[in-house]
Amino acid sequence: INLSNARLEKVAVKKEDYPPIKMPEMCICGRSNVGKSSFINAVFKDKLAKVGSTPGKTRTINFFNIDNKFRVVDLPGYGYAEVSKEEKRRWRTMIEEYLLERQELKLSVLLLDSRHLPTEDDKIMLSFFDKKEIPIMIVLTKCDKLSNNELAKNTELISKELGIEKELLYQFSAKSGMGVKQVQYAIIKFM
Ligand code: GDP
Repeated sequence: INLSNARLEKVAVKKEDYPPIKMPEMCICGRSNVGKSSFINAVFKDKLAKVGSTPGKTRTINFFNIDNKFRVVDLPGYGYAEVSKEEKRRWRTMIEEYLLERQELKLSVLLLDSRHLPTEDDKIMLSFFDKKEIPIMIVLTKCDKLSNNELAKNTELISKELGIEKELLYQFSAKSGMGVKQVQYAIIKFM
């Protein structure tokens, strides 16, 4: 599989817009501004996803085709405070519609900011994947912003908070390239 043979295949807001031809899919989710677009660009192809657009602005589900072998599904970032209740409900519906019904979903990647403890929303996402028995990969983003000591300490704290062994957390930085190879390897192996 050539991970950098990647293109945006479809932009969707509802399930009628999803690409009709079946292919295994992995979804990527996390809080708004967690570094989702940067992650996609570092792991797949540079400039594939738009980085640093106004937080909370992405209201679509983006389907990226990877080498005609599988799709990366970029779900809207959640947890952005500065939006109305109505808007939040729309996001939730959009995410749930994909997660609840998509048979092709084989792997979910949850991004967490390495500097912070997981939020209630992050935990809701996790328990959801657990219930549906969808394999999960947890990636700690922006690790370049921490010293080695801080990173070790935070990884431990996050692992405790989630009840997940710390060896299962991928330390990642789109800026320094930390963890990119490991994540690529895991994705190839899995997909
Ligand atoms: P998204 O909203 O989750 O898609 O996040 P983006 O990828 O757009 O990134 C949000 C902000 O965090 C941008 O200003 C990025 O430049 C920054 N960012 C993303 N990843 C990293 C990283 O690994 N290291 C650092 N230092 N900044 C990052």
